[in-house]
Amino acid sequence: AEQELIRAQRFESLALLAGGLSHDLRNLLQPLLLAGDTLEDYADDPRLARLGTLVRDCGRRGLEMVSSMLSFARGARRAEQVKLGALLEALNLLLQGSIPRMVRMDVDVFDPDVAFEGNHTELQQCLLNLCLNAIQAMPEGGVLRIETDMVSLPEDFFSDGEQATPGRYLRLSVVDSGHGMPPEVLQRLFEPFFTTKEAGTGLGLLSCKRIVANHGGLMRVRSQAGEGTEFHLYLPLRNEDGDHVEPQIMDASLQGE
Ligand code: ADP
Repeated sequence: AEQELIRAQRFESLALLAGGLSHDLRNLLQPLLLAGDTLEDYADDPRLARLGTLVRDCGRRGLEMVSSMLSFARGARRAEQVKLGALLEALNLLLQGSIPRMVRMDVDVFDPDVAFEGNHTELQQCLLNLCLNAIQAMPEGGVLRIETDMVSLPEDFFSDGEQATPGRYLRLSVVDSGHGMPPEVLQRLFEPFFTTKEAGTGLGLLSCKRIVANHGGLMRVRSQAGEGTEFHLYLPLRNEDGDHVEPQIMDASLQGE
C-alpha cells in the first residue's frame, strides 16, 4: 500500500505539472494556430502562405499533444466505490509511523459502511497530506481529529466560479490544535510552491484541492494563529443521474473483504 501511495503521489505531482503546463501551452498555441491560418489564407506571397501552413500545422500538432497529455492525466484516474471505513483505516495505518507520542489522534467515523463513488488512493493521499501538515503544525504535541458527517450545503455556501451544486455532501474534516496560520499565510495557502517550511514543497494543498475538485467537491479551511486549523472536504453524494442522494450503505455480506 505504501508503494502504491508513493506512486500515486508521484503521479499526482506529474499530473499537476502536466495540467498546468497544458493549460499554458494551449494558451500559447491557439493564437499561433490562428496566426498561421490567417497567413495561409491572406498572404499575397505564396512563400508566406506556405509559411502560414507550416505554422498552422505545427500549432495544430502541438494542441493535439496537449490534449493527449491532459487525457493521459485524467484517464489514469479510476472511479470506484470508496468505503468510508476502509479509507480511514488505510489512512490510520499509513499514519502510524508518523505520529509523535505527543500527538493524540482521534478518528470519528459516523458510518464505516457509507460508500460513494471516487478514487480511494487519491482521497487517501489527500487526507494523508492534510494529516501530515496537521502533525507538523503541532511540534509540541496536541490533538489531531478526523471527523466525518453528512451535511446539506445551501446555495449561498458556494462562491463564484465554484462548480459544485447545493445538496447532500459527505464532509471529511481534519482538525488540529497546532500553531494555526496568520491571515497572510491563509491567503496564499493554495498557491503552487507556497510553503513556510524549510523542506516544504508547497504542492500538498494544491494537490488536495485538485483531488477534491476531481471528485466534484470543494474544500474549506478555517484557522486561527495560535489556536489550530480545520480543513473540511466536501464530497457530493450523487446517483447515476447526477442527483444528490443519501449515501449508499454497503451490505457487509457483499463486500468480500
Ligand atoms: P508544504 O506542506 O510542503 O509547505 P502545503 O501546500 O501542504 O505545502 O502547505 C502550504 C503551507 O500551508 C505550509 O507551508 C504551512 O505554512 C501551511 N499549512 C498547511 N496546513 C497547515 C496546518 N494544519 N497548520 C498550520 N499551517 C498549515
